[in-house]
Amino acid sequence: MTADWNPRLWMDTFSDLLEDEVEYDDSWTFQFNYSLSEELSTEERRRRWKIYCHCVHGRFRCSSCSRSWPSARVVLLFRYRLRSNRGTVLMRPFGQVCRNCCQDFELPGFSQREVEEALLSLFRKIRKNCYDEEDEDQDDFGSDCSERVWSKPHESQLCEACSLGIWCQED
Ligand SMILES: [Zn+2]
Ligand SMILES: [Zn+2]
Repeated sequence: MTADWNPRLWMDTFSDLLEDEVEYDDSWTFQFNYSLSEELSTEERRRRWKIYCHCVHGRFRCSSCSRSWPSARVVLLFRYRLRSNRGTVLMRPFGQVCRNCCQDFELPGFSQREVEEALLSLFRKIRKNCYDEEDEDQDDFGSDCSERVWSKPHESQLCEACSLGIWCQED
């Protein structure tokens, strides 16, 4: 698994999966927003924005000392909506700080498989909440933060999502 943040991998995987996962004629776009908030305003709700928060395995590398570390609790925040046949997905990955250097938040790197699993569960939410399809798989790979049993303690003070009080809750 790479420790480098790779937006291209996310965008390519999104386009690859889209055709099979969303069998409608609407056009969907995928973008990053690194300051996305997990709170929806009344206005945003009215504009049909929805929130999905997902937890995945990722890997980080410190840009100062090059130390690399794995994390089972990398939080990904998505906003999505479908309006007038145009679908939009915004994603924010949350970073972690190197324990030795305590400097900036580093962005996570992921394996192809982690990216696919995260996007597949996002597409399930989209089918359910934008197209009123039945949620055929309630289990969600068991990958929501609240459901997973963590093998290692999570260092909350080094985690950007924790420092903002963001947990994997759905609206
Ligand atoms: Zn470091
Ligand atoms: Zn955290």
